Amino acid sequence: MKKIAIVGAGITGITTAYQLLEKGYEVTVFEKNRYAAMETSFANGGQLSACNAEVWNSWSTIVTGLKWMLQKDAPLLFNPKPSFHKLSWLFSFISNIPNHKNHTILTAKMAIESRVEFKRILKAENIELNLEEKGILHLCDNRKALEHGREVSKWLKEAGLTRQEVTLDEIKKIEPTINLKSFIGGFYTKSDMSGDIHKFTKSLADACQKKGVKFNYDTEISLIDHNKINPIIHFQIENKKYKTNYDGVVICAGVMSKQFASKLGDNVNIYPVKGYSITLLLNDAKSVKNAPYVSLLDDKAKIVSSRLGKDRFRVAGTAEFNGYNQDIRADRINPLINWCNKLFPLISTEHAIPWAGLRPMTPSMIPKVGSGKLPGIFYNTGHGHLGWTLSAFTAQQISDHIVRKDNLVK
Ligand SMILES: Cc1cc2nc3c(=O)[nH]c(=O)nc-3n(C[C@H](O)[C@H](O)[C@H](O)COP(=O)(O)OP(=O)(O)OC[C@H]3O[C@@H](n4cnc5c(N)ncnc54)[C@H](O)[C@@H]3O)c2cc1C
Repeated sequence: MKKIAIVGAGITGITTAYQLLEKGYEVTVFEKNRYAAMETSFANGGQLSACNAEVWNSWSTIVTGLKWMLQKDAPLLFNPKPSFHKLSWLFSFISNIPNHKNHTILTAKMAIESRVEFKRILKAENIELNLEEKGILHLCDNRKALEHGREVSKWLKEAGLTRQEVTLDEIKKIEPTINLKSFIGGFYTKSDMSGDIHKFTKSLADACQKKGVKFNYDTEISLIDHNKINPIIHFQIENKKYKTNYDGVVICAGVMSKQFASKLGDNVNIYPVKGYSITLLLNDAKSVKNAPYVSLLDDKAKIVSSRLGKDRFRVAGTAEFNGYNQDIRADRINPLINWCNKLFPLISTEHAIPWAGLRPMTPSMIPKVGSGKLPGIFYNTGHGHLGWTLSAFTAQQISDHIVRKDNLVK
């Protein structure tokens, strides 16, 4: 195998391109947008968060989700209109509840490995991404959440992660800007980080291009076909149709990976779980001073935040099961703004840039990394709420897997 195509220039596609290039492959990336990182890897919560490894597969998620269906501004919105895709995904999500603990430990292990690789890439390519290495604070507003957090911290410890419980006084010392009125305590993971996923992905794509990866931007793949030996990529540039054979193709197409997989005979059950963010522009000295640098995770509101340099503050959250649309709804953005006003009354929310993205979520919440049924078909996709956190590791996994397959053939 020599010539490899990658579908998608999001965080998973670009990290995969980087790893395969390092291993000596001739890599071509296909992306329908004009630039890298224009879909889900554009304006996410910014957290590189091993501490947020807990998978959502639990009965308490189901019960809370049902209650939230009656509340318009709830962190989770579920459109009850049935579709086969949604129902089969939900069924599989529920059947993964017995894996809650094991999958949390597995995800935390992957996140820890990912940090090491991420730091190696950062150093090698000298990438600027508003990285903050100040840890992540997890805020809890009730006893039950603290008790659950203690249990999860034990699982994270098994994975090798230290997440310490902190009192309100300790939280105040770690991040003095938060209005802690509604909280009773929380957890702190010193080793976690935050940064701008778009800046990182774009810079790494540029580095790959300089080193010889070929980029076909503005190029939509209409079909991945197969002649029983090789994959054939059918693509379109400005209404003109082309096709090219490759020795291998890695599907990193985010929420569109399912469609490619089903045509290739593979079941990659990814549902688009929509989320929103706002990026506050900190245009005045008071806002700059009073916005937190430590990255936050509010357990009840299911909102995360990250400081992106001196003059930007990102707030993200909510999960919406509502198909593939990327409409930005005011009633989903408002809770993010209200959260800021409540926790950080001294920062201005006058200039808030709204965004919506679709998390490519598998029902087990474990990414699909490996081969398809046909020769030369590979996947690195389905990273859900943790694509930024896990991608450096899964790119390494898939490229090692391709090298192993290659050696077997030789
Ligand atoms: C609100 C929100 C907050 C989040 N916060 C965090 C966080 O704090 N930490 C964290 O780790 N993760 C977070 N995530 C998750 C993370 O952002 C995603 O897991 C990750 O960005 C997914 O990357 P990807 O490469 O799989 O998909 P994408 O970034 O969507 O990339 C897929 C690419 O494939 C391209 N493509 C698809 N079909 C075709 C085609 N036919 N032809 C050509 N190109 C095609 C698309 O254009 C796209 O560029 C968050 C997500 C959301 C929505």
